[in-house]
Amino acid sequence: MTGYLHSIESMGNVDGPGVRTVIFLQGCRLRCKYCHNPDTWPLSGGTPVQPQQIVEKLMRYKPYYGAMGGVTFSGGEPLMQPEFLCECLRLCRQAGIHTCIDTAGVGLGEYDELLRWTDLVLFDVKHEAAQEYKAITGGELTQVQPFIQAVRRAGTPIWVRHVVVPGLTDGAAHMRTLAEYVKTLPNVQRVQLLAYHTMGIKKYDALGIPYPLKGTPPMDAHACKQYEKEWFAAYAECEKGEKDG
Ligand code: SF4
Repeated sequence: MTGYLHSIESMGNVDGPGVRTVIFLQGCRLRCKYCHNPDTWPLSGGTPVQPQQIVEKLMRYKPYYGAMGGVTFSGGEPLMQPEFLCECLRLCRQAGIHTCIDTAGVGLGEYDELLRWTDLVLFDVKHEAAQEYKAITGGELTQVQPFIQAVRRAGTPIWVRHVVVPGLTDGAAHMRTLAEYVKTLPNVQRVQLLAYHTMGIKKYDALGIPYPLKGTPPMDAHACKQYEKEWFAAYAECEKGEKDG
């Protein structure tokens, strides 16, 4: 069973709990305007690799994972290689490695089987409204439903992540509707707002792809923290409304 690997970050600390190895897989059907990994889009690119090779590599780093760390499969969109991913997750679970997938929820199915071996989902919420979702990703918001339903069935914990882009996914009104949307998702344990950056522009230039957000400045980290506070306040309001109602 062959998978297609983009790259490996041996020890990261931002993609899930603790120290983690991040496996970036090839393939994604979305075209997010702010994507900083356009080189992961083609499924056919990357290095061919077997699940066993991935796990052997992870075993070398396992002593550094401690009680909380492990592996995060990212991309691209890891759900675009379901059979390969499933086998990797299964072998990791067998080897006692905590498993996490970083996903936008738009893949090729087999979600119930994948989630059997997944300890945590980092779920990238692109936008809560259908029109804006399409404008940002080129895809349909309804495409994420099968994955969300599978997570609900499996009971897998979710950490929501949302990229805050100036003029696109910022603003107090957006934080409120985002909070209402997140309230509808199952098993949410944590929400992280990520500040948009422009580090991917060079990759677009190298690939000869026009950069969709040309002229948009990076998101100010301080302003992003402020939005995070607004988001939490809006979420608390949603919860209160639910209890009162
Ligand atoms: S889902 Fe991720 S990899 Fe795919 S286009 Fe969006 S940001 Fe890029």
